[in-house]
Amino acid sequence: MITAIVGINWGDEGKGRMVDLLASEYDVVARYQGGNNAGHTVVNERGKFILNLLPSGILRPECVNVMGPGMVIDIEHLHKELGSLREKGVTVGAENLKISDRATICMPYHPLLDGLEEDRMGAKKQGSTRRGIGPVYSDKYMRKSIRVGDLLFRDVLRERLSDIVEWKNLTVEKGYGHEPLSVDAMYDWLMTYGDPIMENICDTTSFLTEADDSGKSILLEAQLGALRDLDFGIFPYTSSSCTLAAYAPLGAGIPAKRLDNVVGIMKAYSSAVGGGPFVCEFSGKEADELREAGGEYGAATGRPRRVGGFDVVASRYGVQLQGATELAVTKLDVLSGMERIPVCTAYELDGKRIDYFPLETALERCKPVYEYFPGFDGDITGCRKFSDLPKAAQDYVKYMEDAVNCRIKYVSVGADREQYIQMF
Ligand code: GDP
Ligand code: MG
Repeated sequence: MITAIVGINWGDEGKGRMVDLLASEYDVVARYQGGNNAGHTVVNERGKFILNLLPSGILRPECVNVMGPGMVIDIEHLHKELGSLREKGVTVGAENLKISDRATICMPYHPLLDGLEEDRMGAKKQGSTRRGIGPVYSDKYMRKSIRVGDLLFRDVLRERLSDIVEWKNLTVEKGYGHEPLSVDAMYDWLMTYGDPIMENICDTTSFLTEADDSGKSILLEAQLGALRDLDFGIFPYTSSSCTLAAYAPLGAGIPAKRLDNVVGIMKAYSSAVGGGPFVCEFSGKEADELREAGGEYGAATGRPRRVGGFDVVASRYGVQLQGATELAVTKLDVLSGMERIPVCTAYELDGKRIDYFPLETALERCKPVYEYFPGFDGDITGCRKFSDLPKAAQDYVKYMEDAVNCRIKYVSVGADREQYIQMF
């Protein structure tokens, strides 16, 4: 069985938390796109972990984790992430971490270029995480990038690197006026951070296909949400990769037809990082209170997240794009204590009410139409059955289900592994 876990909203829906929970039912967890711009938070009996690159199954000792060919991997960052996990007693070796030889290496000049370009844009900057994701995917499409498997063929690697650095310096040095890149420094960097992962590099497609053939179950873990998808998200405030379930098998390197289920992770309210239109956005005290209640600060960057009420228009679009077969609603507990629950039920575009998610230029002009549902009180983090929830919370969950037209299988009521309700 192959299942994809994807974000319905703008990201940070709690995918890491749900993957860590569901990983117990899976033999393999694979990441299939993006890089260390992700921040997945996992809280369990061993403590709190923030994973940027590693699949969230890494904390389950029996789980094999795969970093797929669709990923862009900053191997220095990976080295640090592995180091901090090992410090906390997590065992990572060739048996439980497999890195695709086809994945792309995010080189030090990628974050450099990301930053140089954001600075050049000044007030018009895109709100990039500056981790080099846009530049490295651009190079991949230019076919001028280094792949993880190149580390296995060092004689060819040096020549290839030298050609690429020469080309990169046209931009770094001649374009931005920055100090030129040195081939030696880049080669040394590749050796320093490549050596410790040599045993993990392999053909992950063979591994995954064989695992599937032999009846093992595979979970494909997305990073970011539907609204950050390069093609279907809020362009250009998107990520530079495809965040949709449709790409999950491709980015992991397995045939598309083998994907069985798509679990969409949807938050009980809205949050977004970076720039761009965010129609349901709160401001002032209302925003501060929700941000504090939900601890909405970026896991990768620490940036305060923008927040708003649950957005029906955006979430319905997200569910559609992902083709979700079932949903997990997260962070319901955060709404406890609110006198009334705000829901953005439609948008108003040039004075007309719309219920579809328009192209970004129109989205910029949209205003939210807010409606309010009865609130609920008390600590719900201990609820394990739907009937344990206060009536108003139950009604709200049922409302969300109807509004986006997809069944809700899990309701998360806290960050800890066990704090959830299974609906069926
Ligand atoms: P991801 O990027 O989708 O994996 O999500 P993040 O980890 O960036 O952000 C989700 C945050 O919410 C993390 O700090 C989680 O520990 C936390 N979280 C997840 N589910 C719940 C929940 O049901 N309730 C509460 N209070 N926190 C949650
Ligand atoms: Mg996150």
